[in-house]
Amino acid sequence: MSNEQDDDDELFLVEDAEDEAATQQAGRSWKIAIVDDDEDVHRTTCFALQYVQILNRPLEFIHTYSKSETRKVFASESDIAVVLLDVVMETEHAGLELVSFIRDELGWTDTRIILRTGQPGYAPEEEAIRDYDINDYKTKNELTRKKLLTSLTAAVRSYEQIRTIDASRRGLHQIISSSAAFTFEHGIQSFASGVITQIAALCGVPPEGLLCAQGELNELDEEIPETFNVIASAGHYSSLINCPIDDIHSSRVRDALRHVLTRRESLFTDHSMTLYFSGRGNRPLAAFIDLPFSLSEINQHLLEVFCSNLGVCLDNLSLVNQLKNHAYRDQLLKLPNRLKFIEQISTTLASEQTGQMVALIDIDDFAEINDVLGHHYGDLILKAVADRLREKLGAHVFLARISGDVFGLLGSKELLEPETLRQMFVESYTIEETAHAVSMSIGMVALEGYVGDGAEPLKDASIALKRTKIHQRGSCTLFTRSMGIEIRERATLMQHLHKAFDTQRLFLMYQPQIDLETGQFTGLEALIRWRNDDGVLIPPNDFIPLAEYSGLITSLGAWVLRTACFMMVRLQKAGIAPQRMGVNVSVVQFRQDDYIEDVESALKETALLPENLELEITESVTMTSAALFESKLAKLKQMGVKIAIDDFGTGFSSLSYLDKLPVDRLKIDRVFVNQIDTPEGPRIAELITQLGKKLGLQVIAEGVEHETHWKTLAAMGCHEGQGFYIGRPMLEENLVSWINLRK
Ligand code: C2E
Ligand code: MG
Ligand code: MG
Repeated sequence: MSNEQDDDDELFLVEDAEDEAATQQAGRSWKIAIVDDDEDVHRTTCFALQYVQILNRPLEFIHTYSKSETRKVFASESDIAVVLLDVVMETEHAGLELVSFIRDELGWTDTRIILRTGQPGYAPEEEAIRDYDINDYKTKNELTRKKLLTSLTAAVRSYEQIRTIDASRRGLHQIISSSAAFTFEHGIQSFASGVITQIAALCGVPPEGLLCAQGELNELDEEIPETFNVIASAGHYSSLINCPIDDIHSSRVRDALRHVLTRRESLFTDHSMTLYFSGRGNRPLAAFIDLPFSLSEINQHLLEVFCSNLGVCLDNLSLVNQLKNHAYRDQLLKLPNRLKFIEQISTTLASEQTGQMVALIDIDDFAEINDVLGHHYGDLILKAVADRLREKLGAHVFLARISGDVFGLLGSKELLEPETLRQMFVESYTIEETAHAVSMSIGMVALEGYVGDGAEPLKDASIALKRTKIHQRGSCTLFTRSMGIEIRERATLMQHLHKAFDTQRLFLMYQPQIDLETGQFTGLEALIRWRNDDGVLIPPNDFIPLAEYSGLITSLGAWVLRTACFMMVRLQKAGIAPQRMGVNVSVVQFRQDDYIEDVESALKETALLPENLELEITESVTMTSAALFESKLAKLKQMGVKIAIDDFGTGFSSLSYLDKLPVDRLKIDRVFVNQIDTPEGPRIAELITQLGKKLGLQVIAEGVEHETHWKTLAAMGCHEGQGFYIGRPMLEENLVSWINLRK
C-alpha cells in the first residue's frame, strides 16, 4: 500500500510540473460523474482524486445515486468527460440501462464510461461492452487510488482525443461550407468581411476586433503593392474601413498587418493572429484578429487549411471579377454595357428617385459608315461620340454602350432634355483630321411608373428609338404607353402581312400626276394597297414600317417595282402611257447591297426604258446620309433612271447637299400644299418651288385637293401636281377610263 502511495505522489508531481499559466488559461475542468447508490463509493472516489489534475485541468464531480436521478441530472448536463458507473443500483441492470440512455438517448458518444461493480459476477456481457462503447470495467475493490487515477487519466485522454478529432471534423466541415458560402457576387469587400466573421466563428472568438486589409495595385497590375487598405472590419475596428493600414493607431495591429502582407505568411501571437491569404494574384489579403485566449494547435492548423482554401477562393474571385468586367463592360469604349445598364436602371427603379429618364442614342447609318469608310473609322466615330457624351453630360448621367452604335443614358429629366441632346451632335466630329457630321436618332422613356426590372424601360426606349429611325431619323421620340400596345398589335399585323404577301392580297393603285400649267398627264405614282381578310384597307403608312422592320420590304419592294414596270409597259402598248412611273423606295431597300441590280433586273424583265421609271426617295434619307447614298444615286442616274425626293420639306436636315445630289425632282410634301388655304399660306411651298428652280430641278406638289391649290401652285411656278382634285389613286381599269375621259 505504501508503495502505491509513493507512486501516486510521483504522478501528482508530474502533473503539477505542467505550465501553470497554461492551466489557468485553459480555465476549464473535466466533468466526472460518479453514479453509485453507495454513499461510501462517492466519498472514497472524491477523496482519492482530491487535487488531481489531468492534462492541466482540475476535475469537477457530479454525484448521482440512482438511475432515475441520473437521467434527470444528465438531461441538463453536457460535456461530461467520464462517468464512473455502478452496475447494480435500484435494479440489477440499472447501470447498463443508463449506458444505453447515455449513448442512445443523449447521443453522448464522446463521454467515456467506466463500469464499477461490487461483485465480479455482475460483469456485463462482452457485447454490451462493445456495443455501448464501455471503456473500462473494474470491480470496486480494484479501485485503489493509483488504479483509479490511471484508469481515469486514460479515459480523459481518450475523451479529449475524440473531442479533438470531432472538432477538427466539424471545423473542416465548416471550412468547406463557409468557403462555399462565399458568393462572388458582391466582390472582394463582402468576401473579406465574410472571411473575418467565418474565422471568428471557426475559433470561437467573438466577432470583435477583426479587420481585413488588401494591397492596392498600381496601374500596371504587376508589382507587389506598396499601399494596403482596410477592406473589411468589425467590432471596435469598424471605423477603420477603407483606411490605409499606415493610419491605424495601434502599432500592434499595424505592424502585424504590414509584416504579414510583406512577408506573406501568417503570424500568431498570444493575443492576436494575423492570417495571410495568398491567391495567385498580386493582391495579398491579410486578416487581423484579436484573441481573448491563445489558440490551440488544432485551431491554428484548421485556420491554415481555411486560409489556403480561401486563397483558392480569392483566385476565383479575381477571375470572377475579370469575367464580370467582361460581362459588364464594353471593351472597345471601356463603357458599361447593356447588362450593366439594365442593372443600373433596376437600381434606380429600386431607389424610387423621381424624374429619371432613359435615353437611347443611335448613330444614323453607322452600318454604312463602317462599310464605306472601314471599321477602324467606325471605331473612331464611336469613340468620338462616347467622348462627347461623357464630356457634355458629366458624371451625373450614367453612360453605357448598349450595342454596336447605340448608347444608353440614364439621368434626370433636366439633364436629358431632347433639345440638349440634339444640340450635342450639331457640331461635327474631327476624325483623322477631317470633319464628319453625325446624325443621331434618339428614343426616350421616363422611368415613372416602372418597377423592378430595368429591362422593361429599356425595351420601351428601344421602341421609341425604332420609331425615330423609321419616321424621322435624327430626331427624338418619347415613349408613350400607346406605343407598347401598338407594338403588340403590330406583331399580329406583321404575321398577317406576310400571309397577305404570300397569298397575293396586296395590290397597287396608281395616282396620276399632271402638268399644272397645261393639264397634261405626265406621270403616275404606284401606291401599294392591302385589303385584309375582313375586306378592310390597311394604309401603307401602317404596314410599310412593319415590312421594313421585318425585312419583308426587300421582296415586297421588288414586287412593287416589277408590277409597276409591267403596268407602265401595258399602258405604253395601249398608247396611253405618261412619261414616267413613280415608285416609292424605302430606305431599307435602298441600303441593300444589291438594290441597283434589283432595279436593273426589273427593267430588263419588263423591257421598260430606264427614263420611264422614277424612284421616290424620302428627304430624310437622302439628306442625313447623302455622302453615303451619293454613289448609289449616281449609278441609278447613270442608268438613266429618274430620281425624286419625296415629302420634301419635312426632313429637317441641312439643305447643303441638295445641289450635290443627282436628283431630278422635288416633291413638295402635302402638308405645305394644305397650308395654302390656312393662315400659314403658301410660303413654304413657294420657297421649295424657288429652291428647286434655282437648282434646276423639277418641282411637283402632292396633295392638291382644291382648285385653289392648283391655281396657287401654278401661279408660283410649280411644274406639276398630284392629288385628289386631279385624280385619286386608282385601280388599273379605273385609271384607263380616267385617261380616256381626258382625251
Ligand atoms: P407618298 O409617297 O408621299 O404618297 C402619297 C400619299 O399621299 C399617298 O398615300 C396618296 O394616297 C396620298 N395622297 C395623294 N393625293 C392626296 C390628296 O390630295 N390628299 C391627301 N390627303 N392625300 C393624298 P398612301 O397611298 O396612303 O401612301 C402613303 C405612303 O406610303 C406613301 O407616301 C409612301 O411613302 C408609302 N408607300 C406607298 N406605296 C409604297 C410602296 O410601294 N413602297 C414604299 N416603300 N412605300 C410606299
Ligand atoms: Mg411617294
Ligand atoms: Mg409624299
